[in-house]
Amino acid sequence: MADSPRRKKLEKTTEETRVVSTQKFYCSRCGTAFSRQKGYFPVSHSPMYRGLGYLPICNDCIDEIYEQYRSSLSSDREAMRRMCMKLDLYWNDAIYDMYCEYHTAGRCNSGERKILVGRNTG
Ligand SMILES: [Zn+2]
Repeated sequence: MADSPRRKKLEKTTEETRVVSTQKFYCSRCGTAFSRQKGYFPVSHSPMYRGLGYLPICNDCIDEIYEQYRSSLSSDREAMRRMCMKLDLYWNDAIYDMYCEYHTAGRCNSGERKILVGRNTG
């Protein structure tokens, strides 16, 4: 007696859609696929990206965009300000100054990434 294949009843499950093991995360700028966001995308606390918790642009692209702004604006501060505006990051001159002093002993032209992906505490 062969089992007649019974169609499994499809149920709406909210659980399964939450499994993200095979999900890929694509950078909206370069299109590169990543297996996870952590470590590849900057964390964002902005309400704009609340659903993801991360910016949709990968770290490499962030570096590139920042370098582009830096060379065209000839200013670290202006480049950073522009990045913050673009990415909906909190911008504050005083915080930037503090950050620069803390990380580069007052010198803010070392060219390394200095995106303030901080919490919006203010
Ligand atoms: Zn990218």
